[in-house]
Amino acid sequence: MTKVRTGWTLAIHGGAGSMTPETLAADEAERALAGLRAALDAGGAMLEAGGAALDAVAIAVRVLEDDPAFNAGRGSVFTWDGHIECDAAIMDGRDRRAGAVAGVTATRHPIDAARAVMERSPHVLLSAAGADAFSAEQGLEQAPPDWFATPARRRQLDEIKARPDLPFDSGMKYGTVGAVAMDATGHVAAATSTGGLTAKRWGRIGDSALIGAGTYADDRAGAVSCTGSGEHFIRLAVAHELTARRRLVGETLGQAADALIAELSALGGKGGFIAVSPQGDALWRFNTPGMFRGLARDGGEATVAVFGEPVGTA
Ligand code: ASP
Repeated sequence: MTKVRTGWTLAIHGGAGSMTPETLAADEAERALAGLRAALDAGGAMLEAGGAALDAVAIAVRVLEDDPAFNAGRGSVFTWDGHIECDAAIMDGRDRRAGAVAGVTATRHPIDAARAVMERSPHVLLSAAGADAFSAEQGLEQAPPDWFATPARRRQLDEIKARPDLPFDSGMKYGTVGAVAMDATGHVAAATSTGGLTAKRWGRIGDSALIGAGTYADDRAGAVSCTGSGEHFIRLAVAHELTARRRLVGETLGQAADALIAELSALGGKGGFIAVSPQGDALWRFNTPGMFRGLARDGGEATVAVFGEPVGTA
């Protein structure tokens, strides 16, 4: 049966974090907001042309990975040892196919590697050197360590190493990126990409690469991309539970989102998420002072923000 065109929705985030209107420099905020607009333009153009939600979230995240303002691809945070290890995941709500990579160091667009895992391997999650080898074998663009490194992220590492008394997730500087979309045929998809937490060590992997924790998409319920203190998102399986509550308990996307952000706060977790439903509703929630986010719809103005209402439905 052919579905009737229902319009399209694209929501993106550029990370939740401890920035406040007082601490976030105006030029830094403007650079990040401009990056979000560029990602909405790229993903929105794809959806407007009748493209699939999967392609739209992939291209939106790709644009943000190349933007040094964000903690994903170029501009990723440094590990304790001074390396950059990226995590990314993508999921297609049509058939719940998914792909992810963790700890990749040489793939210019980690989201492309995640997609290649989904489409060209029998696996869901590949890690570290093996994941980089797979991505090179697949002909994906490789980049040297210098491509990913920025002075601002190096300074953040130095600051954190000078304060070993701080909790490990004080390294949660904003910048993880994600996208969720519903396309004109009513299918949904989600994608997330990150350098993780500043000064992470021992091969630490966050929620972004874990299907069900930081990334999930299911045509029966919606698509979700998270950002924040990854360990809490893993423990709560936030992205999957949000969709499961809708599917199994019949909650609205908003009710499920409220429940999850309350649980996150109760466990001491920090961060937020964006979600879309197969009907094209979009929402965001965050319990940090800010979260970079953006929304575009067919026939509407694209909007971007960082502070303001932590509970949003559109
Ligand atoms: N959730 C990411 C992680 O824990 C970090 C972030 O969103 O800033 O790796």
